[in-house]
Amino acid sequence: MQRFQQYINGEFEDGSGRFESLDPATATPWAEMPEAREADVDRAVNAAEAALLEGNWAAMTATQRGKLLYRLADLVAANAPKLAELETRDTGKIIRETSAQIAYVADYYRYYAGLADKIEGSFLSIDKPDMDVWLRREPVGVVAAIVPWNSQLFLSAVKLGPALAAGCTLVVKASEDGPAPLLEFARLVHEAGFPAGVVNIITGFGPSCGSALTRHPKIAHIAFTGGPGTAAAVVRNSAENLASTSLELGGKSPFVVFADADLESAANAQVAGIFAATGQSCVAGSRLIVEASIKDRFLAILKAKAEAIRIGSPLDMATEVGPLCTERQRALIEKTVQSSLDVGARLVTGGGRPKQEGYFFTPTILDCDGVVSPSVETELFGPVLSVLSFETEADAVRLANDTRYGLAAGVFTQNLTRAHRMTKRIRAGIVWVNTYRAVSPIAPFGGFGQSGHGREGGLQAALDYTRTKTVWVRTSDDPIPDPFVMR
Ligand code: NDP
Repeated sequence: MQRFQQYINGEFEDGSGRFESLDPATATPWAEMPEAREADVDRAVNAAEAALLEGNWAAMTATQRGKLLYRLADLVAANAPKLAELETRDTGKIIRETSAQIAYVADYYRYYAGLADKIEGSFLSIDKPDMDVWLRREPVGVVAAIVPWNSQLFLSAVKLGPALAAGCTLVVKASEDGPAPLLEFARLVHEAGFPAGVVNIITGFGPSCGSALTRHPKIAHIAFTGGPGTAAAVVRNSAENLASTSLELGGKSPFVVFADADLESAANAQVAGIFAATGQSCVAGSRLIVEASIKDRFLAILKAKAEAIRIGSPLDMATEVGPLCTERQRALIEKTVQSSLDVGARLVTGGGRPKQEGYFFTPTILDCDGVVSPSVETELFGPVLSVLSFETEADAVRLANDTRYGLAAGVFTQNLTRAHRMTKRIRAGIVWVNTYRAVSPIAPFGGFGQSGHGREGGLQAALDYTRTKTVWVRTSDDPIPDPFVMR
């Protein structure tokens, strides 16, 4: 069994506890992980605070911080194959996806490396004579970054990149499910030369480690990605330290297909939207909303594509759908699919376990027209597509917005004016037209409603890791005339 270590104050060490990590493709233990408990969390936060307030990092120019981020980006690119293999092994996410995604993660670090010395304060045209007033942008403080098991390197890069560019220090908590890639990434942080304590990487269980971290009195900001239920617990914890929060949560994203769409292209995008990453994606287009006149034709294309998907070992480059990360996730999916069938949803394809060992579930399509199906409401985080149909554009909008979430949406049409109308009327943080699942470090990412608040990616994300300080300097040598009148 491989052994991994946590990274606190520039040192690699075992945690207060240890636990085994399972390989989801075989359902057997393959590695031993360090479990951080409250005392480890406390040391990590103290190290991050010390690095923030004194020493090399605090004294560094923004340009020097940028250079460290460039070095980290190069190391991520050079080590992408190894990191991808670890992520695949520990989470079951297919190697085809982890390889491409981690190579691209390097670009996120490059983007924020370039931004580090472009974060500017401002000079105010103040309404008083003999007074210079300006805003300094300073790092917000020690950041707790919490990520779920899927895409941990990507989801941590969108926090680490802007936070480090802004001069913050961090404690990153990897999920207990599949922490291997982030713990290995700590070695690259070390090699890049970040001063001790700037980045600390730990893992442990949510209710103990995650909770201790998010209510720690020295945490100034919590950058959280995960489910809405956990987010509510995190926000409650933040009532203790009054930390600000940014929350990237789940979704039940609509994928709207009009009759005039290029159906082949839309079907490929729908496959990418719900079966890529085995559906374990926050932006999964899990509700197909299709114009009634083409419903049967479109479902026939989708069914053929779903049934042709290669299911297999996630470490095989030819595999298109691998296992789910955990048994509990598969259990939730199985239960929800069954209860949807019980209330009248019709199985178009899939719905069961393929022959493989491990936590596999076949790509599944459920026709939910005319029934109140739990699969339409519940985020399943798996390869299950629920289908609804509409007659008019207004119906399409109503169905698309009929969710407590609001992370992403897809619209497929060749009608330009309708496409523009839909982008305005759909309530979601991201709307893709005639494409799906595209992301970039340059484009902000985040949701509405129960999908959270705050944005990751883009310039604003770096500014969100700063706080402004208003500086007043009186430039007159005349004595202050009247101490009882504010000027
Ligand atoms: P969870 O909400 O269960 O876990 C997310 C993280 O929070 C994990 O590191 C978890 O630790 C930790 N955690 C659990 N309990 C607490 C607590 N009380 N205090 C602090 N931290 C805690 O999410 P899942 O792992 O189930 O991930 C799937 C969810 O993430 C889905 O809803 C998905 O949509 C969402 N997601 C959102 C994305 C976005 O950008 N909007 C991107 C990717 C996923 P541990 O795992 O150790 O319990």
